[in-house]
Amino acid sequence: MVVAAVAAGAFAAAGQSLAAGEGNAAAEPDDFNPRDAAATFNTAAAETSTSHLGTGGNAPAPEVLPVAKKSDADAELQKVAKGERIAQERAAAEAEANRPKYVVPAQGVFTSGFGGRWGTTHYGIDIANSKGTPIVAAADGTVIEAGPASGFGLWVRVQHDDGTITVYGHVNTITAEEGQQVKAGDQIATMGNRGFSTGPHLHFEVWNPSGKKVNPLPWMQEHNISPL
Ligand SMILES: [Zn+2]
Repeated sequence: MVVAAVAAGAFAAAGQSLAAGEGNAAAEPDDFNPRDAAATFNTAAAETSTSHLGTGGNAPAPEVLPVAKKSDADAELQKVAKGERIAQERAAAEAEANRPKYVVPAQGVFTSGFGGRWGTTHYGIDIANSKGTPIVAAADGTVIEAGPASGFGLWVRVQHDDGTITVYGHVNTITAEEGQQVKAGDQIATMGNRGFSTGPHLHFEVWNPSGKKVNPLPWMQEHNISPL
């Protein structure tokens, strides 16, 4: 009843202002926007209810405990993860240290050595096996050439860190790309019978850092591998 009376009074006052012809008076209700007042009130109410939840007597205790447990669990998980990471890094370093740095480039029968043969010079060694036998990089390096080569049909050449180049000839298929980094034992080709060849075999050459074709056998023995 009081509210109704006040509203009626306000309406009456506004009516009076309009009746009096005062233009400014009409703007006054906008200056005090009831919606603003309502919004302010609602915000305050929301804050009040939030703070009520925060400071309530029964809720906080059960909440604090799980949070602390989770934090401990996370720390434990992090410790375990760190331990696992260290173990993995150690295992990787060990594997890297223990892996062979030189590998015989193909399994098979040693059929021909380096040197004079049939009135010419044979600049590599031959390892014979069936067509498709994997051919692998003899040492870590970069594939500097993989494609057709006169006499070899197809070849792959790999350059190693010290400048030595190894050559793999008569290959049937090439399984590495030029520019590819390879590790000792990574497959780079398959054995074939292309070019000047009397049967499927790998023709393997070693070019020393000066570019001279050297006998692969001493080079292999120096690195503790042998095709014999
Ligand atoms: Zn050969």
